[in-house]
Amino acid sequence: MSDMTDYDVVIAGAGPAGTACALELRKHNLKTALIDAHAFPRDKVCGDAIPHRAVKTIKQIAPELYRQIRTEPAMMPSTGCRIVSPSGKEIEIRFSLEGYISKRLDFDYLLLQHLLETRSVDFYEEEKIVSVNSSEEKAEVITNKRLLRSKLIIGCDGAHSEVRKNLMGNFIDPAHYCGAVRGYFKGIEKVKEGLMEIHLFKQMPYAYFWIFPLPGGWANVGLGMLSEKISAQKINLRKTMQELISGSSSMGVRFKNTVMNGEITGFGLPLGSLRSTLSGNRFMLCGDAGSLIDPATGEGIGNAMLSGMLAAQQAVKCFEKNDFSRKFLNRYDEEVYRRLGNEFKSKYRLQLLIGSKPYLADWAISAAQKFPWLRKQMQKLF
Ligand SMILES: Cc1cc2nc3c(=O)[nH]c(=O)nc-3n(C[C@H](O)[C@H](O)[C@H](O)COP(=O)(O)OP(=O)(O)OC[C@H]3O[C@@H](n4cnc5c(N)ncnc54)[C@H](O)[C@@H]3O)c2cc1C
Repeated sequence: MSDMTDYDVVIAGAGPAGTACALELRKHNLKTALIDAHAFPRDKVCGDAIPHRAVKTIKQIAPELYRQIRTEPAMMPSTGCRIVSPSGKEIEIRFSLEGYISKRLDFDYLLLQHLLETRSVDFYEEEKIVSVNSSEEKAEVITNKRLLRSKLIIGCDGAHSEVRKNLMGNFIDPAHYCGAVRGYFKGIEKVKEGLMEIHLFKQMPYAYFWIFPLPGGWANVGLGMLSEKISAQKINLRKTMQELISGSSSMGVRFKNTVMNGEITGFGLPLGSLRSTLSGNRFMLCGDAGSLIDPATGEGIGNAMLSGMLAAQQAVKCFEKNDFSRKFLNRYDEEVYRRLGNEFKSKYRLQLLIGSKPYLADWAISAAQKFPWLRKQMQKLF
């Protein structure tokens, strides 16, 4: 161990949850460390849709960054979504709230650069957390290079969170977890700027295929499915996606003249449909580390940023009261689920309903074409 340092707060992970947390904390004069295993800019397997909740949180924690992202060429405004049902019925929904599509390589780096300009954190880049301990008395994070002692640890280290594994165990429920793969393609036919596409298929319930257009004629293309169903049906998502875009189907025709950048890669999505414990003595979990992804749409960036901000606000209260106990930190859990709990419940019901009865998507699309109130309900999904 080459180094040992004391901090008020150690934030594990510099994705959207970690940077949002640090941006909110910067106003409070706490000695803060931010650690990430990767060198930035770094890629993160994602669909790259930056939902409205992320934009709203940025506006709240860093208004100057909000002004910047609105003019960033890497951020394409998302104007709406085309949903195509298993039998080919389709509807185009216009978004009324501000959202973007941006490669995570760019978006996460924008957030991090802005944070580092504020000089409010010590950033340990390319340092992998290998172990975490916390108790009533103390907390410490061990990386491959040093030991960091801290009064509080905030775990923002994603779906494979080391903080979560070390402090809560490594439990994954495949009924509340998704697997997904994605690749970058250029030259897909009939892609409209800013218009996201979601396609549902009869032969693959509990799954959806997406095409999210990016700046420069590129698009993020992917396929996601509930892990429980992937195992039960022994599905190879990468292979299924390749078949989908290379066959003679209407989708295959749209991909006929495309070029691909990089590989089709996959990652897990811990869903918010199963309530998780988000804190304990001297620690809190945010974003994917706390399983906070929308169970119907798979969006997690907004919830990661919101939870990062809420964890920072709870951290400030802990320092004011000098109380880092499990009981006091549980207020963070309560606040997260007060904000997101009902949404998780209704989105989970929707996931089960459309998954078990795919024909309902056909019915809903036909009905929404006739009834504006249903179209409005669909808008609220995103
Ligand atoms: C295929 C796919 C498509 C998706 N599409 C969308 C979408 O379109 N829109 C949307 O809103 N959400 C989407 N999501 C979900 C979204 O990617 C996550 O919810 C979001 O990234 C969560 O942010 P986070 O900050 O919690 O974690 P992450 O973004 O995963 O960041 C965690 C950070 O922690 C670091 N880290 C991890 N382990 C360690 C360690 N041991 N030591 C140090 N650092 C570590 C990582 O390097 C990383 O930088 C998708 C997910 C997948 C897999």
